[in-house]
Amino acid sequence: TLNAEWAARWLVAAGDVCDRDRAYLSELDRLIGDGDHGENLARGFGAVRGQLLSSPGGETPAELFRTAAHTLISTVGGASGPLYGTALMRAADALQGHSELDAQGVVDLLGAAVDGISSRGGAEAGDKTMLDSWLAAQAEARAVQAAGGSVEEVIEAAARGAAAGAESTEPMIAKRGRASYLGERSRGHRDPGAASSALLLEAAAAAVR
Ligand code: ADP
Ligand code: MG
Ligand code: MG
Repeated sequence: TLNAEWAARWLVAAGDVCDRDRAYLSELDRLIGDGDHGENLARGFGAVRGQLLSSPGGETPAELFRTAAHTLISTVGGASGPLYGTALMRAADALQGHSELDAQGVVDLLGAAVDGISSRGGAEAGDKTMLDSWLAAQAEARAVQAAGGSVEEVIEAAARGAAAGAESTEPMIAKRGRASYLGERSRGHRDPGAASSALLLEAAAAAVR
């Protein structure tokens, strides 16, 4: 059931994942950026986790996402903080008033995240950013939802799509963010934000019970 308890488990797990994969994410960012993506997210999602563990308020997924969004925007110095913050804020707006997500709700969450990231950062598909992971997640989730998949199948599809989307950034040339300064030399490396997005959506699927 994708209710407030699920959302809280996901956000706490996001903090754990960012700690676990901090070095990997910063290494990806060292290759085509400034090497801080793992630190940025460990700080941001660590703060989100701390807040949830000390005062686990929030009756709905939307309330939890909105609080987490504010925390990310205020604690992450890098570009990824406002981008993830806006994604979660838009997701909160889209899910407002719902006590749990059904298959359509997962598709709505992903659509809201895509809209938030693209309107905040101006990236398009193929620009080698986190947006490529969210777009692939959205496409895969929509396909499974349209075929009558359950909410569990749809969130699994989103995680699978995001992983493929992250991999798809490797041959791309970066058009947004710091990696775009490298031009052609950004080719052959996975985008750090696309990689973290895949890890976050994997955690979302794993948090379902
Ligand atoms: P910074 O680049 O400020 O150090 P991070 O290292 O935390 O911030 O995040 C870098 C990631 O942010 C990139 O790998 C990319 O996925 C994402 N990103 C940067 N700029 C944009 C943008 N304009 N649109 C979408 N994603 C972006
Ligand atoms: Mg960086
Ligand atoms: Mg930075």
